[in-house]
Amino acid sequence: MSTNSEVWVWAEQRNGKLMDVSLQTLGKALELSQDINGRVAAVLIGDDAGALAEELVSYGAEKVYLVADAQLKNYQSNAYTRIISELIEQYQPEMMLFGANIIGMDLAPAVAARVRTGLTAHCSDLKMETIDGKSQLVATIPGFSGGMIVKISWDEKRPCMATLSSGAAEKPEPDQSRQGEIITVDYQATEEDLKIQTMEMVEKQPAATPVEGAAIVVSGGKGIKSEDDVKLIQELADVLGAAVGGTRPARDAQWVVEDNLIGSSGKTVSPKLFISIGASGAAHYSCGFQKAKYVIAIDKDPQAPIFEVCDLGIQADLNEIVPALIEALKTT
Ligand SMILES: Cc1cc2nc3c(=O)[nH]c(=O)nc-3n(C[C@H](O)[C@H](O)[C@H](O)COP(=O)(O)OP(=O)(O)OC[C@H]3O[C@@H](n4cnc5c(N)ncnc54)[C@H](O)[C@@H]3O)c2cc1C
Repeated sequence: MSTNSEVWVWAEQRNGKLMDVSLQTLGKALELSQDINGRVAAVLIGDDAGALAEELVSYGAEKVYLVADAQLKNYQSNAYTRIISELIEQYQPEMMLFGANIIGMDLAPAVAARVRTGLTAHCSDLKMETIDGKSQLVATIPGFSGGMIVKISWDEKRPCMATLSSGAAEKPEPDQSRQGEIITVDYQATEEDLKIQTMEMVEKQPAATPVEGAAIVVSGGKGIKSEDDVKLIQELADVLGAAVGGTRPARDAQWVVEDNLIGSSGKTVSPKLFISIGASGAAHYSCGFQKAKYVIAIDKDPQAPIFEVCDLGIQADLNEIVPALIEALKTT
């Protein structure tokens, strides 16, 4: 397929606000478009979204495909899938990127199946690399049950589609003087579009200090085995003024709130200090804190892979070391 060298980003809006992960994905698209000498375009779907289209231009979108209709105010799985697929078929972008949040995870595979291209999900990075003398898009993701970091490139099918984890790229600085083209796309609802409808989007208040943007993150894994252990982790976080994150097993056991899951299915964080406690260090988890400035890992197993990705490793039982740390921090 010959493409128009555009790097597209699905710009998700919820209740009239652009999602941070979409702006971060736009930041990555800007980087990639420079490498392929292309242009960045955003696809924006919503109701009365003209101001958001301008906002996307200020963040660096050179084009915005704007589909505005009252019926599209909230995310509609069928309608959004059809609209984006038809736009891809019409304009044939080189790449199409989505934020890997809950809605991106629903929409991206549906679009990929519709336009018959490959999708690489939960990427921790996307870069142009030279393979066999050809410049190609390469995705970095944790693979094989988290035991390895895998690089994936696309075959000749276009667009190259990917979802990018939250925090994996930087949100660009907005600049009101940027100019861009806003292309209004007509929308005619079909019966299929609205077979399933989202009636309302309710914003949940965060149940804990968010890990994104926190200067210090204390993160617990399956080594946490009781409510007392949870209290211990929380106490350490409180003494340090840190946010509490965790691994998937810790999230599944409800020791850590869903929003603060660290890793490829959750958040990518870049704190000054990341303290991992009782987590083995699977790549699905450790890709979520590789941008941390300094990593301290505590685990009782000396062979745990976490010790290969930390700056300071402490082989100890958390029930011994964490109270000692809290005590020491309280007295300094
Ligand atoms: C597609 C896919 C996506 C995934 N996404 C994510 C993701 O986003 N985030 C994520 O975290 N996982 C994710 N996973 C799961 C991931 O592969 C690992 O299974 C998970 O990270 C392991 O969590 P853990 O380290 O808490 O548990 P374990 O691997 O069981 O490690 C527990 C650790 O605790 C230590 N320990 C036990 N007791 C103590 C103690 N008293 N003191 C000190 N140390 C102790 C043990 O020595 C061990 O190292 C994903 C998996 C798949 C297949």
